[in-house]
Amino acid sequence: MSSSKLLVRGGEVYDHDGDVHKPQARDILIEGGDIVAVGKDLAAGAAEVIDARGKLVIPGLINAHYHSHDTLCRGLFEELPLEMWLLYTLPLGANRSREEVRARTLVGALESVRCGITCVQDMLGLIPLDDASTDVVIDAYREIGLRVVFSPMVWDVPPIAMVRHKDDLPADVQEMLGTTGRPIRDQLDYLEHQLRRHPAGGTLHWALAPFAPQRCTPAMLQGCAELGAKHDLPIYTHVYETRGQVLIAREQFVDHGGSLISYMENNGLLGPRLNIVHSVWISRAEMDRMAAADAGIVLNHLSNMKLKSGVAPVCDLREAGVRIGLGCDNCSGSDVQSVFQAMKMFCLLSAVSEPEPGPALAHEVLRHATLGNARTAGLAGKLGAIKPGHKADLVLIDLNDTAYLPYNSAARQLVYTEAGRGVASVIVDGRVVMQDRKVTTIDEDALRREVESLMRHFIADYDAVVESRKRALPFMLDAHRKVWAADIGMNRFIDRTRR
Ligand SMILES: [Zn+2]
Repeated sequence: MSSSKLLVRGGEVYDHDGDVHKPQARDILIEGGDIVAVGKDLAAGAAEVIDARGKLVIPGLINAHYHSHDTLCRGLFEELPLEMWLLYTLPLGANRSREEVRARTLVGALESVRCGITCVQDMLGLIPLDDASTDVVIDAYREIGLRVVFSPMVWDVPPIAMVRHKDDLPADVQEMLGTTGRPIRDQLDYLEHQLRRHPAGGTLHWALAPFAPQRCTPAMLQGCAELGAKHDLPIYTHVYETRGQVLIAREQFVDHGGSLISYMENNGLLGPRLNIVHSVWISRAEMDRMAAADAGIVLNHLSNMKLKSGVAPVCDLREAGVRIGLGCDNCSGSDVQSVFQAMKMFCLLSAVSEPEPGPALAHEVLRHATLGNARTAGLAGKLGAIKPGHKADLVLIDLNDTAYLPYNSAARQLVYTEAGRGVASVIVDGRVVMQDRKVTTIDEDALRREVESLMRHFIADYDAVVESRKRALPFMLDAHRKVWAADIGMNRFIDRTRR
């Protein structure tokens, strides 16, 4: 939190409840980390003044699903479906040096800031789960000044359990995929220990992240539900990302009606704290139950399409009234941290999913990416709008960029036209982290040199991982094809022309 006063003078201030096409020029007075007044001709007093004339001022964008563990893998993968891609990206994020963990955290955070993101939900695959690794990540976020909702992932069911018909695989391939679980108590104790060591405050917030329901035993899910209630924390978990996960639900969770939503409900997780990530293959009945429980869904269209998972049912989700958030997901699975791209994709997929004229509309998806994403993190009323009492997380967009030539609608041009070029200045918690396109908190050139140096070792490790996975690939491909041959009663791909 900044202790000084700041006056953002004369920008067009985006108001979700005002004119979303032509916002009014307003001043924004900031004290410490908070917005204290929004109005015309506010007195500057002792405040530092930022001239925002010619700028559109929007609430900081929030990325409600992100993993910082694979930022250095950006651009390494294409073609692979999710289950095969995971074979590479997870090992490349584990047991890395502290220098690398710091650098990769800063790389993703830097991209986020430059793209107008002021808060990320980092569902981090942190290995090892220890004090030193945790400190490196939290320190990196504090250094650059990005707000983080931090949730190291926990799980106790071995990865091999996620492969259908796993007994058909040779023993060495099973071993490679992972046949050991992790102790529940150690992981939950680790989380409680970190909550005590680093209490939430300023730009640090906590969440819980059981990896996925099928990667957790009932005891682990119950432990997360108890921890969430005890510390008032939001919960994020991956659900129904791929068709294979639907089949696992139907085949392995018969006691819960074949539904991962029921499995979570039966273990105390379904409720207002819960956000399920992806939900490409959720059924309509399950959506209705999510809506009734005030549980949310965080959509990640970009990675779902790149990893061949499918297309989330946006129109049905809107109709069911589920609260919606948006994420950008992994740096090697989408491979970009751009809420602008995520918002545009949401509207485009809504458009091709429903041929009748109508929503989703640009100003609606802007709400999802700000207010909706704030709600996922339990930060409703604090983030997502430019109002007194809200945190001072703001993005100044340069209206001289060609994206606004001519300038007809703030909401539509932010969603359909803005590529990130217009992001000029970024304020997080009252601290200016980027001013006139210069990041003020870290030495960007030094980070670039550091990453270049780290990449020599990283690429050698990548080559070794690729080599070690060769033996498993044919088996994974076979399993993948069997999944796609199975009828799950849903089809969420734009049909390929059959010859
Ligand atoms: Zn994810």
